[in-house]
Amino acid sequence: MVERPILLLGGTGEARSLAAQLDQAGHPVISSLAGRVRDPRLPVGEVRIGGFGGVDGLVRWIRVHDAAAVVDATHPFATTMTAHAATVAERMSLPLLRVRRPAWIPGPRDTWVPVPDMAAAAEHLAQQIAGGGSSRVFLTTGRQDVGVFADISDAWFLIRVVDPPTSDLPPHHEVLRSRGPYDLASERALLRSHRIDLLVTKNSGGDLTRAKLTAAAEAGIPVVMVQRPVEPAVGDTVDSVEAAVEWVTRQRRSTV
Ligand code: NAP
Repeated sequence: MVERPILLLGGTGEARSLAAQLDQAGHPVISSLAGRVRDPRLPVGEVRIGGFGGVDGLVRWIRVHDAAAVVDATHPFATTMTAHAATVAERMSLPLLRVRRPAWIPGPRDTWVPVPDMAAAAEHLAQQIAGGGSSRVFLTTGRQDVGVFADISDAWFLIRVVDPPTSDLPPHHEVLRSRGPYDLASERALLRSHRIDLLVTKNSGGDLTRAKLTAAAEAGIPVVMVQRPVEPAVGDTVDSVEAAVEWVTRQRRSTV
């Protein structure tokens, strides 16, 4: 009997690692990438690239490929894809799992200003600047979120992105193109050489990009931290690739 495939919504290191482990265990998986990054790191196994065309497109894709379950291992801030997956899983009565790396938690040396979203981060920053506070900002929010800072003209921004931003940018900035992981020594050096006095980031979690927070804490630099969005109340959630493998294995057993 041909096993029905699992649709693995990816774009993260966890998704690549999960694809490799499921492939190794003999579970048929089709990984899906949004196609945002020019030169993506591809997971092993079958891969499709590009949006599905909203909820209806995702329903069609799942029907055509007879997917048995959806594993949403997208980035914690990929809220639209996550919402679509939840809607479709509920509508089609499909098992759904979200794989979410744990959020970062501030330590005793961290000075974080938690904000609910990117607009609130920009607002906080504008207030800081108006009050004579920060003026040299390290922005690691991802290129899709840079546009909300475009009107802030009284600060200088170091904007670190994988691919160049396409939105408007603040008038005073430098775009630094690079892809993690980043180590502590280079993050320390980056903050020092650019005389950064504020870091704006989002609570992505994980070890690959954590070093900037340690470097900021050491240097007494405050961090405007955009909090994680609320997850849909549909399906299951795990916080590790190992737990996701177990979930898939259990699903397989229950459908044999
Ligand atoms: P998003 O805002 O939640 O998604 C926007 C649209 O992109 C979705 O409606 C969907 O298009 C398409 N899409 C997103 N993820 C997809 C996937 N894995 N496979 C196929 N289509 C997908 O997502 P995003 O923030 O643009 O993120 C896009 C991708 O980059 C995700 O795979 C995510 O894991 C990865 N990523 C995101 C961030 C971040 O900070 N947001 C950071 C690192 C990596 P349709 O409606 O046409 O299906």
